[in-house]
Amino acid sequence: MNPYPGPAVPGCAPLLAVLGRDVTVPTARGEMTYAALDYAASTPVLSQVWREVSAFAPRYGSVHRGSGQLSQYSTAVFESSREEVARFLDLRADDRVVFTRSTTDSLNMLARWLPERGSVYAFDTDHHAVLLPWRRHDVVLLDAPDSPRCAVELLDEALRNHDPLRDALVCVTGASNVTGELWPVRELAAVAHEHGARIVLDAAQLVAHRPVSVRDLGGDWVAFSGHKLYAPFGAGVLAGRWDWPQRAEPYLAGGGASRSVRRVRGDRLEVEWDLGTARHEAGTPNVIGAHAIAAACRALNGVGFAALRAHEEQLMHRLHTSLDSLPGLRRLSLFPRGADRAPVTSFTANGIHGLTLADRLSWEYAIGVRAGLFCAHPLMHRLLNAPGTATYPAPDEGGTTQTGNGTALGDCRTAPLNAVRASFGAGTTREHIDRLVRGARELTHRQGPAGHT
Ligand code: PLP
Repeated sequence: MNPYPGPAVPGCAPLLAVLGRDVTVPTARGEMTYAALDYAASTPVLSQVWREVSAFAPRYGSVHRGSGQLSQYSTAVFESSREEVARFLDLRADDRVVFTRSTTDSLNMLARWLPERGSVYAFDTDHHAVLLPWRRHDVVLLDAPDSPRCAVELLDEALRNHDPLRDALVCVTGASNVTGELWPVRELAAVAHEHGARIVLDAAQLVAHRPVSVRDLGGDWVAFSGHKLYAPFGAGVLAGRWDWPQRAEPYLAGGGASRSVRRVRGDRLEVEWDLGTARHEAGTPNVIGAHAIAAACRALNGVGFAALRAHEEQLMHRLHTSLDSLPGLRRLSLFPRGADRAPVTSFTANGIHGLTLADRLSWEYAIGVRAGLFCAHPLMHRLLNAPGTATYPAPDEGGTTQTGNGTALGDCRTAPLNAVRASFGAGTTREHIDRLVRGARELTHRQGPAGHT
């Protein structure tokens, strides 16, 4: 019998309404309501965001280009979305908001803004979006700290050797996409500034869970993605100081970024580039994406981060205490257990490979989680090789449940070590958490100590 028939269980409300709450998917037990527990990858759409996007869509027009009224209206919506994001991030008066495609895009843009000969300081625990864009620059990789305080000390020590005549950029992750642990952003920013360096906050996993005040944290830039903030319409944000970007080559060269283009001699073009945000937003902007992000900012401010945090911490406490009671299951942490964290939890279970467990949670319980190395390979290698980590056969040895959805995981599928990640937020209910715990309990129990079904 299907224990989770739609619609969603009454008396177990999400904090905010999201689309897809009653969606059913086929499983081994028949149609079941889907439990989205992969918010760290992409959140569902907030209903309020969808309403605002739907209300705008009939009036959609070309931004910064047309003379028609809908074009003018769309331009106003785009620019007011920029202002909404600036308020949401509590930016300083001179800061600017650039709309990008995602956090990855934002950090690649910042890599273009960082002056030549500049150097980058990043922890090896960071997401690949933070570790990889700096191909023109020297990168100093800091070892994984075992506490927030240790992170500050490591940065302080590393920056002592920094040449003060060179530009330096420190990268800090707001919340880990593997452990959910919050990093000491304010303290790291203070240390960076003490040594004349600047700092960018990767807020991809933070903005949906905590208020981010650039002014208060003392950051120089902040980057995040709409699709992790209940606004999955292809837009992201890079916001902060405007001196490096004003001097940098445009991120993309093309219409919008250029104020005037003249053919001067033979094949030569003389270009005058815009000095404002248009300099780095060449091409037709994604107004729906920007509007959706602004709508999400309004919705989260409307419910308030205190209520959001209380909802998520209640669910997180329930999840952690239940998972910790399962034999052979180990939650991954870098910092001590009591550290403040966003609702992102990764774990391993003895006798069952992460991918196998995630596939079975999907096929038998209609639960959407992620398994793999989470685009944070150096961190995962460290966490999975730590003493006490679960052991299990690779999926081809132990047998992967056929879900028919052909998860595309690159080298994660063959990685000998692997974890499952559950992540959630404003649309999550107690029933989702309880279903996950029940699934994990039943599947790990069924797997048995030998690791074979
Ligand atoms: N930074 C962190 C901490 C992330 O979790 C992610 C995505 O999972 C990214 C950056 C990259 O975000 P996107 O894929 O939206 O570019």
